[in-house]
Amino acid sequence: MTLSDEELERYARHIVLPQVGGVGQRKLKAASVALIGAGGIGSAVIPALAGAGIGRLTIIDSDVVELSNLHRQPLYGEREAGRPKAELAAEFVNRLNRFVQVRSGTDRVVVENATALLEGHDLVIDGSDNFATRLAVSDASVALGIPLLSAAAVQFQGQVVLFRSRPCYRCFVGDAFDADDCDTCAEQGVLGALTATVGSFAALVAINFIVGIGEDQAGKLHLLDGEKLEWRTMRIPPDPQCRTCGSG
Ligand SMILES: [Zn+2]
Repeated sequence: MTLSDEELERYARHIVLPQVGGVGQRKLKAASVALIGAGGIGSAVIPALAGAGIGRLTIIDSDVVELSNLHRQPLYGEREAGRPKAELAAEFVNRLNRFVQVRSGTDRVVVENATALLEGHDLVIDGSDNFATRLAVSDASVALGIPLLSAAAVQFQGQVVLFRSRPCYRCFVGDAFDADDCDTCAEQGVLGALTATVGSFAALVAINFIVGIGEDQAGKLHLLDGEKLEWRTMRIPPDPQCRTCGSG
């Protein structure tokens, strides 16, 4: 995996960082990332990863743009209401960085298709807005052995966790959320600037993970309180009874 002269110029402010360098930039180019959800979280993750030069990016979202999305989803404009987010997000990536190979999918991720959609990626980022999708994505990621970076924001609370086999997302939330009718931010409301912050933080975790910068973040929950304006970090214990990753 080599970098062209144009890429060396484009990523110069990365490459000059001792933590990244040419080696780290080539790791980014070699990486294949699947992003589930091109909403508020995705609107921050997509520009950050595309700009950073992730080699292959798969964007999956079954929704179309609605006016009520625009306060937190600056990837889209008023005139794009009604169009599929995944396709618009892919167009954005193509405009920003032609060195990124982007693919889009408008499937809704469910238990039956999750494995096929996620297979072959090095990292899955889940920025979806409902528990049924999150659990389907998590179970498939564990089965495939792909690390999962989960990011969520609702009201004034945000959370980011990198899961790598154990503990998994199901250890964190349990089995109660498998039903399709759980709360989503559609009902609860969310501050647009909060999703942007949480999505940017998730992109930072993803880039650090791919390049190998800093401490191992697996199993560490990062919580943002958007009212107190404080981040807290805590460890998620593996659930021995977890039906995805546990022995029970
Ligand atoms: Zn588990």
